[in-house]
Amino acid sequence: MNLSGKAKRRLIVYGGIILIATGSYYYQPMRIDFIRRVPPTQAHLKPDSVPFFTKGEKIAVVVAHPDDAEFYIGGTLTKLGQARADITLIVMTDGDKGYYPSFLTDAAANRKVRRAEQLKASATYHAKVIFMGGPDGRLRSNEETVQNLTDELKKIAPTCLICFEDNYWVRVSHNDHRNAGESAVGAATQVPSIHWVARFATAAPNYAIDISNLWDTKDRLLRAHASQFSGEKGDRVAAIVYDSAETQGKLFGFDLAEAFRCTSRRR
Ligand SMILES: [Zn+2]
Repeated sequence: MNLSGKAKRRLIVYGGIILIATGSYYYQPMRIDFIRRVPPTQAHLKPDSVPFFTKGEKIAVVVAHPDDAEFYIGGTLTKLGQARADITLIVMTDGDKGYYPSFLTDAAANRKVRRAEQLKASATYHAKVIFMGGPDGRLRSNEETVQNLTDELKKIAPTCLICFEDNYWVRVSHNDHRNAGESAVGAATQVPSIHWVARFATAAPNYAIDISNLWDTKDRLLRAHASQFSGEKGDRVAAIVYDSAETQGKLFGFDLAEAFRCTSRRR
């Protein structure tokens, strides 16, 4: 094939653009599901069939970053806190943006701020917090992660595990979220006390918690993460979270809800 000078230049420019676009997609931590997985047909569980809201009930929550818990399930956690469930929140990474080169971000300073914000938010729903200190943006679901999580979960001995969806993701998701979910569900198989697994950020919900009266509280919880959600950005994120709660509510007949895909070992 004999390409003219102009054609060669075009090939180099377009090839370069494709390479840079592909490289950037793999460097940044978000993922897009271009092809959707078809969720399974699951019978809707009766809300009161899930014994979440009992005093002293041991609940373990596994998230990827400080702010995930408040963003996705702030209303549920508030209700659990009000019921005096015994909540332990495991935060897999510090959300310190350590995947950027060090001249762009101060990971140690970020870690300090983000842990403090998480502790402030979790105190309002009376949760203990365990920081695992994994790599932000680069969390892997491997043997080591699953083993560390298994060890922590065995110490807690919860009856319910709440975590990110490990299978039927929403269209745009974060690698850390997926890997946190996958590791948590993998670890749960080795923790005999766990009877319920409730997955949030799912495309296949079968259960929802009514948070219609808790919007103000959830909004405050989000804004406890001031380094992430303050001012105009805070308003923008809050509006996204509100819309999502409305969408999830519609599926289950509530004004606002947080939806889960629950599975039980008892069934
Ligand atoms: Zn996150």
